[in-house]
Amino acid sequence: MSSFIAIDGPAGSGKSSVAKAIARQRGYGLLDTGAAYRALAWSMLESGADTNDPEAVIAAASDFDLRLGLDPDDRTVAVGDADVTTAIREPRVSSAVSGVARVPSVREQVNIFFRSLVANAPHPAVVVEGRDITTVVAPDAAVRILLTAAPEVRAARRAGELAGENAAAVAEALHRRDASDSAVVDFLNAAEGVEVVDSTHLDFPQTIDAVLAVIDRKQGAEHGR
Ligand code: C5P
Repeated sequence: MSSFIAIDGPAGSGKSSVAKAIARQRGYGLLDTGAAYRALAWSMLESGADTNDPEAVIAAASDFDLRLGLDPDDRTVAVGDADVTTAIREPRVSSAVSGVARVPSVREQVNIFFRSLVANAPHPAVVVEGRDITTVVAPDAAVRILLTAAPEVRAARRAGELAGENAAAVAEALHRRDASDSAVVDFLNAAEGVEVVDSTHLDFPQTIDAVLAVIDRKQGAEHGR
């Protein structure tokens, strides 16, 4: 049975890239929980369903054939036969995803799926990144980290990733999404026992080092018990 390395944080905090780098470096699995919500939003948009209608979200989730792997070098996400790896990152999906993620029974359903993926993983540990991993999905994990950064730094990073998009529009969309998401789960404040890593003044390698330092300390404490 694999153990959880739980990393939460808002959009643009750097958690996806940091989680991926750490998983590769350490031979751990990687689970991007946001991809599940994005894939569900994508399939609803594809069929013309209303992502703000909880009943429609529940119906879509009950017939949702999602494939999401744990290999940090293969980030393929598929819904049925459709490879949605790139499509789920489009701004139209980012704008729709909060509506999907707001439905409690759908959250419970995906959380069961996430826990079973980790339980059956061949890796010694799985880096699981999202919004509610430290608090809801794996509140008992030995390693629980909240990766944050100042809002303007997060917006600038995200605008850099989405080349060609208007920076002000990207910032506005990101803040709007954080506001809706944080009404559902609090990922802006650390729960008790969760370590905060603030990447505002750290570059990418420094952020990786800071997160690895927490992982090593927490795993050491766990093994020394
Ligand atoms: O991490 P990412 O930005 O790809 O997440 C996409 C969306 O999925 C978030 O904006 C949020 O609505 C939802 N999400 C969530 N809980 C998670 C991970 C993501 O509600 N654990």
